[in-house]
Amino acid sequence: MTCSRCSTDNPELARFCYRCGAGLTTTVDRTSHYAASPGEPVRALALVSTLMPHVSGSRHHLYKLGLALAGAASLVAAGFGVLPVALICAAIALPGVLLMYLYDHEVWTDDPWTVVAACVGLAGALGVGIGFLANTFSSSGAVSLTNNLPSTGRLLELCVVLPLVTLVVVQAAPALVTARPRFAHALDALTFAALGGASLALAESIVVQHGAFSSATVHSTSSARDAFIALTLGFAKPVIYGAAAAITVMRLRRRTSAYPLGLLEGFLLIGVYDSAVATLAIYGDRGVVLTFIIAVVTAAVGLIRIRDEAHAALLDEATAVTVTPAGHYGGNCAECGLPLVAGSAFCLACGTAVAAMPKPHQEHVKSYAATSA
Ligand SMILES: [Zn+2]
Ligand SMILES: [Zn+2]
Repeated sequence: MTCSRCSTDNPELARFCYRCGAGLTTTVDRTSHYAASPGEPVRALALVSTLMPHVSGSRHHLYKLGLALAGAASLVAAGFGVLPVALICAAIALPGVLLMYLYDHEVWTDDPWTVVAACVGLAGALGVGIGFLANTFSSSGAVSLTNNLPSTGRLLELCVVLPLVTLVVVQAAPALVTARPRFAHALDALTFAALGGASLALAESIVVQHGAFSSATVHSTSSARDAFIALTLGFAKPVIYGAAAAITVMRLRRRTSAYPLGLLEGFLLIGVYDSAVATLAIYGDRGVVLTFIIAVVTAAVGLIRIRDEAHAALLDEATAVTVTPAGHYGGNCAECGLPLVAGSAFCLACGTAVAAMPKPHQEHVKSYAATSA
């Protein structure tokens, strides 16, 4: 069967082209099969398979469990009125689970310390800086003491300057790590951006905890309000930062001319969130809930855009892969277990990108291909 997209000759039973990943029969719509997780559509709202794209079989439920437990601990802390604890429980969850995932899949190959130093250490230090900047911009107390909107100058600082600076620094750690050829793949850019974004958000949240967003809640005794603040700062904001970093750094590493457009997207994601925080603080409890809703919607949009970008990257890069003639054995698919054709960029049965399989597995597939070609 010949692929209509790249003209590669595929075995008769193939559903996906092993070289370019296109669907080979009219019943296979590639937009219903995300290249890193073909059981899901490209545009699915799935936190774990989006931020942790390497095929992980039985491990996904552990990551989900970790996030759920942290969320529950955060709500319990909020219930007892301890906002700082609620905030830390929520904010530490995503970086923690991402580190576990990077370890499980050896995404950082044999160089974990570079990744940790940049995406946790450097990103965290930059997050502290962003936190102080946010506090400076909203420090005079006008946001919470009067019942008026902040002045135009302050709005400009909080809704334009702050997101711009955040967008620049959130790219620093993943851009630094993915500058190395061994980490230059789009999926590496995605995972390191997610970790960097989450670490930066965690550090920033610790600094601004007594700043603009929570200044009205220092004397608050409302558990519900604390819970919404913890979930906004601890879960939604890290995803928004991670998405802004992932979209921009993936485009940077793919060297597409669409990088400036990625910058605009990243700015809009962070800008919408920062604007909600800055303008809704005066509405008390209602403002906190509204900010939460806007943050969750913004995070969801960010997740979908990451998947669009990663899917396009996986399909595009595959056409550049050199292939050996079909028929040789190239190891097994990490997702469905069926044999791969040597030199595959995609599993021809389930459509999983080989680049989304764990790195040791990819090496295994390559060595099989080399010995059988
Ligand atoms: Zn093809
Ligand atoms: Zn497969």
